[in-house]
Amino acid sequence: MRPGCRDAQGCAVMNYPDAGVPFTRISEHRHFAPWEDPPGTLLLREYAQGCGPGDPPFYPLRLTGDQRRLDRYLTRARAARGVSFLGRLGTYRYLDMDVSIAEALQAGAAVAASLRQGQPPAAFPGGGGT
Ligand SMILES: Cc1cc2nc3c(=O)[nH]c(=O)nc-3n(C[C@H](O)[C@H](O)[C@H](O)COP(=O)(O)OP(=O)(O)OC[C@H]3O[C@@H](n4cnc5c(N)ncnc54)[C@H](O)[C@@H]3O)c2cc1C
Repeated sequence: MRPGCRDAQGCAVMNYPDAGVPFTRISEHRHFAPWEDPPGTLLLREYAQGCGPGDPPFYPLRLTGDQRRLDRYLTRARAARGVSFLGRLGTYRYLDMDVSIAEALQAGAAVAASLRQGQPPAAFPGGGGT
């Protein structure tokens, strides 16, 4: 936090791909909502690390064992009539924000259309399931 500072890096996200820099990017959140003009600025540095025991598993890896478990999960999900699975968690895929939102909108329209026809919604109405 830098009280009094109105702009530390001039943009929302600056990437640092150099091997000698320990963090991968710096986000300065005030640039995401410039109309709010807070009286200081907040810089967030992100450091890459492997996922260890007790860490939240943020990224789907799809290693061989993961893929086998996913296949079992997809089979059960497709058989569960009237339940829909969405998003990163529900489809076990890496999704960027824009794709998540697009798929949520697509799923909303698809679920509504199914219900209008008296049909249960699809298991994966936004995408995924493969
Ligand atoms: C470190 C990191 C950096 C990222 N950077 C970017 C970026 O720069 N640009 C970009 O476009 N995207 C980025 N993303 C991806 C972006 O965050 C996702 O695309 C988006 O958040 C996915 O939305 P979602 O709703 O599918 O999943 P999430 O946002 O993960 O929502 C899933 C929700 O389910 C809840 N939940 C989990 N388990 C349960 C349970 N058992 N019961 C009930 N609720 C539960 C969780 O608490 C969470 O609120 C980043 C992700 C990470 C982790």
